[in-house]
Amino acid sequence: MPTGYNGKILRVNLTSGAIREETPEEIVYRTYMGGSALSSYYLLKEQKAGVDPLGPENKLLFMSSVISGAPLMGLTRYTVAARSPLTGAFGEAEAGGFFGPELKMAGFDGVIVEGRSAKPVYLWIKDGRAEIRDASKIWGKDTGEAEKLIREELGDNRIRVAQCGPAGEKRVRYACVVNELKHANGRTGMGAVMGSKNLRAIAARGTQRVPLANPEKVQEIGKKALELLSQSGMAQNLKKFGTPMFVMPLQNSGILPTRNFQKGQFEGAEAICGEKMTETILVKSEGCYACAVQCKRSVKVDGKYKASPEYGGPEYETIASLGSYCGIDNLAAIAQGNEMCNRYGLDTISVGVCIAFAMELVEKGILTAKDTDGIDLRFGNTDAMLAMIGKIARREGFGDVLAEGVQRAARKIGKGAEKYAMHIKGQELPMHDPRGKQGLSLSYATSPTGADHIEAPHDTSFLTDGPALKAAKPAGVMEPVPAMEMGPRKVRQFVHTQAIWNSFNSLGVCNFAYTAIPLVTLAEAVEAITGWNTSLYELMELGERTVTMARMFNMREGLSKKDDYLPERLYETLEAGTPREKKITREDFANTLKLYYGAMGWDPETGVPTEGRLSFLGLDWLIPKK
Ligand code: SF4
Repeated sequence: MPTGYNGKILRVNLTSGAIREETPEEIVYRTYMGGSALSSYYLLKEQKAGVDPLGPENKLLFMSSVISGAPLMGLTRYTVAARSPLTGAFGEAEAGGFFGPELKMAGFDGVIVEGRSAKPVYLWIKDGRAEIRDASKIWGKDTGEAEKLIREELGDNRIRVAQCGPAGEKRVRYACVVNELKHANGRTGMGAVMGSKNLRAIAARGTQRVPLANPEKVQEIGKKALELLSQSGMAQNLKKFGTPMFVMPLQNSGILPTRNFQKGQFEGAEAICGEKMTETILVKSEGCYACAVQCKRSVKVDGKYKASPEYGGPEYETIASLGSYCGIDNLAAIAQGNEMCNRYGLDTISVGVCIAFAMELVEKGILTAKDTDGIDLRFGNTDAMLAMIGKIARREGFGDVLAEGVQRAARKIGKGAEKYAMHIKGQELPMHDPRGKQGLSLSYATSPTGADHIEAPHDTSFLTDGPALKAAKPAGVMEPVPAMEMGPRKVRQFVHTQAIWNSFNSLGVCNFAYTAIPLVTLAEAVEAITGWNTSLYELMELGERTVTMARMFNMREGLSKKDDYLPERLYETLEAGTPREKKITREDFANTLKLYYGAMGWDPETGVPTEGRLSFLGLDWLIPKK
């Protein structure tokens, strides 16, 4: 009997209705461990290149990991993966909350969904059994109503539900998957893939505990982690202010994304920051399964704008994307926008970037109210922002154009609109500006899923020999490097930290929880949970394997070095925060990218993983046949 994991993957074919259990060998679990890498394994082994992301041949995977669901903080995340309808590349997003651990306790480490159902359905998994059920009653309902109806129908209020919302049903290309109404697998349009399969939800309930190899050691690690947490200033601030605590530091550094990345400072920042949220609309701090950090927000707004606590509260990314990025300083309206996205099942980052893109086109005279269904899409127009969220989710009028994402919308609009579309590989940029932390430019450009802010920790974590650097030293991150430096030292920092965070993506580990807990403790936890004699080295290799497999998936889909780019605007200087002499230059970026390819064991000229490195990582089965 394995410990830590169930040794069972559920395979569901929605076209035929067939459901079966598979038992992968231990070596598969040991090599890929879960989440991102295990999803890539199945996609690369079983799916041919070039399938329509919204067609029945695209497989959709829900993957926990060999350690998720163990009673330790930060082991909550699970992955949803498929070929992305937004980018055509590897699609993947992680979410915290409770669904991943519940799936494990229900007897499965992951679910592979194939085909397409002829009518709306949901999947019900309980204690080792699964069935496909009719979802016609919940189709078209918002996430809150759908969750309530499922729980009523199955007669159990403790069921955890992961679902696409109405936006997924409409195949909005950046629709997300939401669990517990507020924890989102936000990026790359996994909700649209789910909707395209007529699969509205997966409901899970498990009463079995995750078996542990060494329960006493797990308990000891848990105690140590709690102690460390109580000494961590970062963890204390996350509890008090949540991720919106980052608004003011970014504003003060001149890199708070504002008005479609035209500026790095927003005059209304203080009105939308974490401190303001705590003073005004915060009801309580919340957390994911077994986590004491409690960085999640629960807010209430009742007035012209409305938001209820069951939908959580805006994270930093949402505050910025619907706030400063759209020129909006009304926290109550941002909270309502956040709730709308959670009700419809929309990625808040892509929504905000699409709306601000349209706002800039109006500012530049490329669009007028005639093009936008009479909505006055000026920067700062709160009601216009909220109206557009609904139109995007319903694919109504101009909302249908923006529901395609900025890249496709810009092509459709024409008239030079592409210059203002802030995306990489088709995915909208997150709310961090690489012009003030330049290593992030590598992260954005090379992330296999398109621009992504959690590919690796940001440069600003390693400016001094402080707690973050000390914590990363056992993983090979040795010296402080200035945020505005590119070149060899930045590459060294990036490849190591990218490996760490990508191992998190495969192990289902939350990067916020692990700001306070040493990496060697994570390796100890993997050993205590699974019984495997492991080390940080093995986890670092898992991280590199995760990145490389996603790269190989993308190569197979026709992506190449040309897709590792930055939007033109990021080569410009900002008014504050990026002195003219320190701006990102094309030359610096190209040289650093080449160094990165080499450091990864990829061909420095083409960015293709070499046969030697694939062999080293145990990925020789991905070496193209000659
Ligand atoms: S740190 Fe925050 S996001 Fe991470 S597991 Fe804990 S509560 Fe969830």
